[in-house]
Amino acid sequence: MPAGFIDDIGQRRDTGTRRGVRIEGKGQEEAMTRPTKDQQAQERRRDRLIREQVHDTYKLKGKLPEPTVCPECGAVFHEGRWRWAPRPAGAHETLCPACHRIEDRYPAGYVTLSGAFLKDHRDEILGLAHNIEAREKAEHPLKRIMATEDQDGTVLITTTDIHLARSIGDALHHAYEGELDYQYTEASNILRVTWSR
Ligand SMILES: [Zn+2]
Repeated sequence: MPAGFIDDIGQRRDTGTRRGVRIEGKGQEEAMTRPTKDQQAQERRRDRLIREQVHDTYKLKGKLPEPTVCPECGAVFHEGRWRWAPRPAGAHETLCPACHRIEDRYPAGYVTLSGAFLKDHRDEILGLAHNIEAREKAEHPLKRIMATEDQDGTVLITTTDIHLARSIGDALHHAYEGELDYQYTEASNILRVTWSR
C-alpha cells in the first residue's frame, strides 16, 4: 500500500458527509497521474449523477424520534444522524438503515472484483477492502460490508452504502491500479463498482 494512502483517505474524510450523500473529491495521487480531459469529464459526470441522487428508501422513513437506538447493532440516532454512542436512557428502538438492509438482503453497493492479479492476491485485496470498511464504519455506522462471495473466479462484495462501495473501488484502484468502473442506477439508488486486474 502506498504511504500516502492513509493521508489520502483522511483528507477525503475531512471533505465531510454532512448532507448524507457524499462524493469524495479526487485524491492528490490520482490527480498526479494526469487523467485525460475525457477521463476527467467522465468522472465529473459520474460524480454529478451520484451527487444529485438523494433519494434513498432506507433513509426517508419519516423523522425518527430522538434518541433512537438500533436494537441490532446499537447505533444511536441523535441530532439527525446515526452514530456510535452509549445507549441513552429512555431511547426509542428501531432498526438502523444498515441493519434494515442486512435483514432485507438488499445491498446498496456491489463491488465486483476479477482478474488474474486478484486470484494471486485475493487475501491482501480483501484485507484492504475490509480495512476501508473498518475505517469508514468507525465514523459512519451505516457504512458496512454485508457479504463477500466468490462466484466463478470473481469476488462480489456487497455494502449497505453506495459511498463505501465507491471508497473500496477507489482504494483498490489507488493501491493496485487495474481497471475501475462505476455504474449508478438512479431509480434504485444502487452503485455497481467493478475492478479488474
Ligand atoms: Zn443497526
